[in-house]
Amino acid sequence: MTRSVQRPQKRVPATPTSATFPPDLQSNAAPPPPPAPPSPAKPLYICSPFVEAALVKGNFKTIVILPKYVDIMEWVAVNIFDFYTNLNEFYSIITECCTQQSCQTMSAGPALNYTWINQDRKSVNLPAPTYIDYVMTWIQNLLDDENVFPTKSGRDFPPNFPSAVKHIYRQLLRVFAHIYHAHYAQILHLRSESHFNSLFAHFLAFGKEYELLEAKDIKGAPAAPVGVGALWEKWKEMGILEA
Ligand SMILES: [Zn+2]
Repeated sequence: MTRSVQRPQKRVPATPTSATFPPDLQSNAAPPPPPAPPSPAKPLYICSPFVEAALVKGNFKTIVILPKYVDIMEWVAVNIFDFYTNLNEFYSIITECCTQQSCQTMSAGPALNYTWINQDRKSVNLPAPTYIDYVMTWIQNLLDDENVFPTKSGRDFPPNFPSAVKHIYRQLLRVFAHIYHAHYAQILHLRSESHFNSLFAHFLAFGKEYELLEAKDIKGAPAAPVGVGALWEKWKEMGILEA
């Protein structure tokens, strides 16, 4: 089995139609009361109706299960390629709002800024766009490296493939976490919350199924929780993700 390495067509999430709006926004009756302003402790992405917005209904487990006759490494590789590509496209549409000024750190929670380990093994704060650029370039180079992600039939995946994909996964999670924490307003403005939620729920379900993520990566430390950790918990309660 070979995997195409062609870049997919540039695909900006389609302009939503009323069909993608949450049902309670479609009513023709009197306009709904304005939503209560969320308390600072509760980000909008874990509030109704946004937390329920998704393109896929039901549990995401069904779409992450290894298809029959497909090699597990190949399945993980092709899914990581898709997560990377889709996340990159989402980031590209909000990139003008994620600047050196607006995002001076790689924030992902009120008390959490991810740091970058530089060449001297020192942990440094980088503006989010710089951090994300480093991460995405690093992942793109790995995906393009035949020694890590072989695409020709007959070539094997390297022994360090599992650790490489875990590392990639952890960094992709950070990009998701930053977008939810710092740019959710733009996602809503673009009416892309159902697309973005579906992508992230799929990413989390896949990570759990193939043990690519650890709970501590999603939740963070008690003193510095990851914002999307609460979303993960909420989706488990709602049955969208496995508990
Ligand atoms: Zn940003």
